[in-house]
Amino acid sequence: MVSTTTQSGEIVRRDALPHFMNASGRTFGEEEEQLVLEALRSGCLSKTGGSMVRRLEQEFAAMLDLPFATACSSGTAAVHLCLSALHLEPGDEIIVPPVTDIGTILPILWQNAVPVFADVEPLTMTLDPNDVCQKITGRTRAIIAVHVAGQMCDMASLRKLADERKLVLIEDCSQAYWAEYKGNLAGTIGDMACFSLQQSKHVTCGEGGLMVTHNAQYARTVGLFADKAWPRDINSLGSGRFLFLAQNYRMSELQGAVALAQIRRVQTVVSHRRRSAELLTSLLGNTTAVTTPYIPAGTKHSYWLYLLRVAQPKNGTNTQRIGDALVAQGVPAWIRYIVDPLYLSPLFTEPATYGTSGYPFRDFGTQRFERGLCPHAEAALDSVIAIHWNENLTDVHVREVAAAISNAAH
Ligand SMILES: *Cc1c(COP(=O)(O)O)cnc(C)c1O
Repeated sequence: MVSTTTQSGEIVRRDALPHFMNASGRTFGEEEEQLVLEALRSGCLSKTGGSMVRRLEQEFAAMLDLPFATACSSGTAAVHLCLSALHLEPGDEIIVPPVTDIGTILPILWQNAVPVFADVEPLTMTLDPNDVCQKITGRTRAIIAVHVAGQMCDMASLRKLADERKLVLIEDCSQAYWAEYKGNLAGTIGDMACFSLQQSKHVTCGEGGLMVTHNAQYARTVGLFADKAWPRDINSLGSGRFLFLAQNYRMSELQGAVALAQIRRVQTVVSHRRRSAELLTSLLGNTTAVTTPYIPAGTKHSYWLYLLRVAQPKNGTNTQRIGDALVAQGVPAWIRYIVDPLYLSPLFTEPATYGTSGYPFRDFGTQRFERGLCPHAEAALDSVIAIHWNENLTDVHVREVAAAISNAAH
C-alpha cells in the first residue's frame, strides 16, 4: 500500500503500481517454468551443447523476418557483437547520441575506437541526422541509432546518410522492441541491430542480449566473436586455433529458456503498453504544466518509458519538484531519465579509461567532453520525467497516474 497526502491535503491510498523489479511488473508464467525445467533435465546448461539458445536465436530472427540472430550475455555485449563485425582500427569513430544507456558506448572503447557524440532532436531525444552529418570525418565507420524510450529515430534520414557516406547503421533497440517506422519493425532497417534482455526491459531473462542482421558475413564474425573466435564448425575436436581477439559472451541455456518463452510474449507486452500509454496521453490532454510524448508521423512507440516533459522546467528545478511529487505518490519514475548527457560522466571528463593513459581520447578524437557539447540533449533532459511504463498497468492504474501527475504539476 502507498499512502500520500496531496497538496490539497487529501490522503490517497492504493496498491503499489506494477514494477519491473518484482513479479507485479513482470510476465513470467508456465511457459517459462516448463522451458527452464526442460533445460535443466537435459543436463546441458551451455549453449554449445543445448538447444534453448539456438531455438531462441532462430525464433527471434524469424519474428523479425531476418536470417541471423546471435544471443549473448547482455545488451552491452550485443552492442559489442555489432562492432566486432566491423573489424575496427584503433581510432576509428562511431557516432552515438549522448542520451542512452552507457551500454551503447562502452564497447566502442573496448575496441579502442572513439565515440563521437551527435546531438538529439529536441522533442524526441533521438539522434538528429543533421548533427550526425556534421560529425562525420574520414575516420567515421558507423552510426548507432538508439530508439530512446521506445521512440524510433528518423530512420529514413539516417539510412540515407549512412548509404551516401558508406557508413554502417546499427540500431540499438534495447528500449524499443516492436516499435515501428513506416511499417518496419525496429531492428530491420539498420545493417545490424541489438536488443537487451536485462530485468527492466520489455522482455527479460534477468541479463541477456540479442544481435540480429541480414548480413551473412557479419553474422559469421559475430558468432565467432561471442565464442572466443573458436571455429567449432571446422574444428570440432576443440583443440582450438583461435582466429582473432574475441570475448566469451555466450548466453546460458537457463537464460535462453526464459528468453525463449519471453520473446513469444513480446507483441502482447508491447500492445498492452501502447494501449495504456495512449490512455494516459488522452487523460493528460488538458494539462498544460506537462506535455505528453511527441510521436512523429509514421512511427509507433513501444513505451519502455513514458517520457513526460515539463512545460516550464526552469533549468530543471521545476522538473525536480514535479518529479519528486510524482515519486512521492508512488509513481515509479526517473527524474531527467539520466542526470546528464553521458559525455559529462567521469569516464569521459577525467577520462577514466585505460589506467592513467587517457587512451583513446588523448590519442584520437577532437571532442571536448564539457557542458555545451550537445545543447539540445542538455536542455531536453532538464524537462524530462521518465515514468517506468509497464504491461501490467490497468486502466485504473493509468487513471491514478494521471491524477498523480495533475496533483504533482499543480
Ligand atoms: C539497457 C540498454 C543497453 C544495455 O543493456 P544491458 O543488458 O544492461 O547491458 C544498451 N542500450 C540501451 C539503449 C539500453 O537501454
